[in-house]
Amino acid sequence: DHLVNQIAAGEVVERPASVVKELVENSLDAGCGRIEIDVEQGGVKRLRVRDDGRGIPRDQLALALSRHATSKVAELRDLEAVGTLGFRGEALPSIASVSRLTLTSRAAADADDADSAWEIGVGADGRLIPARPAAHPPGTSVDVRELFFNTPARRKFLRTEKTEFDHIHQLVRRVALAHPEIGIQLRHNGKDILSLGAAGGDERKVLDRLNALLGPDFAEQSLALEESAVDLRLHGWVMRPAFSRSQPDQQFFYVNGRMVRDKLVTHAVRQAFSDVLHHGRHPAYVLFLDTPPRLVDVNVHPAKHEVRFRESRQVHDFIYRVLHRRLSQGTL
Ligand code: ADP
Ligand code: MG
Repeated sequence: DHLVNQIAAGEVVERPASVVKELVENSLDAGCGRIEIDVEQGGVKRLRVRDDGRGIPRDQLALALSRHATSKVAELRDLEAVGTLGFRGEALPSIASVSRLTLTSRAAADADDADSAWEIGVGADGRLIPARPAAHPPGTSVDVRELFFNTPARRKFLRTEKTEFDHIHQLVRRVALAHPEIGIQLRHNGKDILSLGAAGGDERKVLDRLNALLGPDFAEQSLALEESAVDLRLHGWVMRPAFSRSQPDQQFFYVNGRMVRDKLVTHAVRQAFSDVLHHGRHPAYVLFLDTPPRLVDVNVHPAKHEVRFRESRQVHDFIYRVLHRRLSQGTL
């Protein structure tokens, strides 16, 4: 099983940023209000993600580290309507098979053993170290050390500390844009890189966060938009065309809260801009598309950057139409 996990890790865990992505998504799925991410040496030496979510009861800690033990899909038909970010139950065991991992958690107040925290780990041989008492506030910490220590081939593909940390930083920015309701702290080698208070529904605080993540240009020169059609809702911010960029570095598109890099979506946005404006500069945007889960398949690739829409033509045309209309009206 250790080997199976390591093979799966090859799919899911490409670099430290992929570990952070999986751990942060678990924290979000656990309904947390705050996430703290501590990174050492680009995440290769150590990375730790701590949340204040609902935690894991003692008797389920070992299960969380075993393969295909997701708590998120109760029945097979749930797979048709996945609302959580994780659902494969292979992230934690995969990460554990290529690192020295410790999982510490204290379950929410309604569980029997909520008055104490418990910790389990995985030894170098892949065997579970039994649960022992630990000190931890309600919520969960996953501590990942020496990533790829036992898979030298993987380790060889890692870039410099700075590059690996940049990937983590980008990932955390993407999450922070999509989740203004979550407080987020990111540290590298003990230094604060991002320190974002929860913005809740407060419009001003949301703009502050845009400002902190994308710079003052974006916050000042972009306009909010929100439009709906049957089964589709598009909302977010698009920067005024005059301020579009020479680099395609500020393009964030989310489908049901999940960041995607999707050809169909990118094409629809670009097409709308170039049809109205006749220039080839890059639009800057943070856009969220919401649609019933049954109309979108996120299960295309374990890293989950791509999506497949059941009605892709309709989705493309909706995005195109909304942006094209707003751009032609000059309301952007
Ligand atoms: P998946 O997210 O696909 O279910 P994972 O391997 O990422 O699989 O996690 C396995 C299980 O461990 C989850 O289904 C969840 O029950 C539990 N878990 C992992 N991380 C957390 C967390 N931060 N808070 C609460 N539960 C967690
Ligand atoms: Mg997960």
